[in-house]
Amino acid sequence: MRQVENDLKVSRALIAWYNEYKRDLPWRNTNDPYIIWISEIILQQTRVVQGLEYFRRFVNRFPDVESLAVADEDEVLKYWQGLGYYSRARNLRMAACDIMDRFNGIFPDKYEDVISLKGIGEYTAAAIVSFAWNQPYPVVDGNVFRVLSRLYALEIPIDTTKGKKTFTDLAGLLMDNSKAGLHNQAIMELGALQCIPQNPDCNKCPLVDKCMAFAENKVDSYPVKQSKTKIRDRFFHYFYIIYKGKTWLHRREGKDIWTGLYEFPLIETAHIMDFGELQQTDAFRYLFKDAGKLDISVKLENVKHVLSHQIIYATFYKVEIEFETEALQRYLYISCEDIDKYAVPRLVHIYLEKFGRNLFE
Ligand code: SF4
Repeated sequence: MRQVENDLKVSRALIAWYNEYKRDLPWRNTNDPYIIWISEIILQQTRVVQGLEYFRRFVNRFPDVESLAVADEDEVLKYWQGLGYYSRARNLRMAACDIMDRFNGIFPDKYEDVISLKGIGEYTAAAIVSFAWNQPYPVVDGNVFRVLSRLYALEIPIDTTKGKKTFTDLAGLLMDNSKAGLHNQAIMELGALQCIPQNPDCNKCPLVDKCMAFAENKVDSYPVKQSKTKIRDRFFHYFYIIYKGKTWLHRREGKDIWTGLYEFPLIETAHIMDFGELQQTDAFRYLFKDAGKLDISVKLENVKHVLSHQIIYATFYKVEIEFETEALQRYLYISCEDIDKYAVPRLVHIYLEKFGRNLFE
């Protein structure tokens, strides 16, 4: 690794820039570790603009550890609906219960205790203890990787164990320990606003005179990544089944996506399938066995829904049946008008937004 001098000039430049250009965000005006925690978890996979409204609604309904710990998981998921990566919401609630049990409801202030909570990794633990108590733990998120890799023209891939350690060590070396929280916020904000992935305006950057990637005219070459994530295609066929003004929902369980969320009865196929082929499958025959005459219409076809490691192609069928079937007994039988009470994945929400007010049309 190139030699890095710890003369605090970088930290001072970052903090001066931050004090002038930082965004005024609600979680920055507090030392409350609970509020910082919620904001950090929301922002892990969500842009600030989208996350702001969710953050406000969430902390308004669950203002502290105890209110979150005693809440029903379904309600927590409902407040998370649309944010994606729902394990974050389930983990938040589990960690809140853990804080009640192990720490008498008081958010722990030791890094080791914080990182022992469900859903909190190195980055989030460092953010919480440095923002809330100014403890000298460096944060290294995607923004920090980008700033540091460019600043020192580091070729080491960021998605390797060695890379993560190198960048974490470097981030710690640059930190002014007496201003740990401020420094961490400043470098993250620089990555979010100034040292952006594409075409950063380097001439306005407070680190331009120190930036090696800029000096070498290779800003676009950093950060370096080793691997490209494999993307899997999946094919979902959802059935909005109507019988006497009621319908069925399924609560997803297990380790697949969207655990704990509700969806219509689903048949997943290994490849793209039109209705002619679908109705020949065992799964379709089982679902509608003894249902009598089926009145079927396709409402949305091959909706493309992109997740981080998979692309889902979903078709929504509306099916009116004559008789209840045995297969449907494993689902939740609810009034069609109550669908909005359940937390559903964004994909199902798209359907409900489009047809929600006209479910019988
Ligand atoms: S000079 Fe450009 S590449 Fe270097 S840190 Fe600043 S914005 Fe990023």
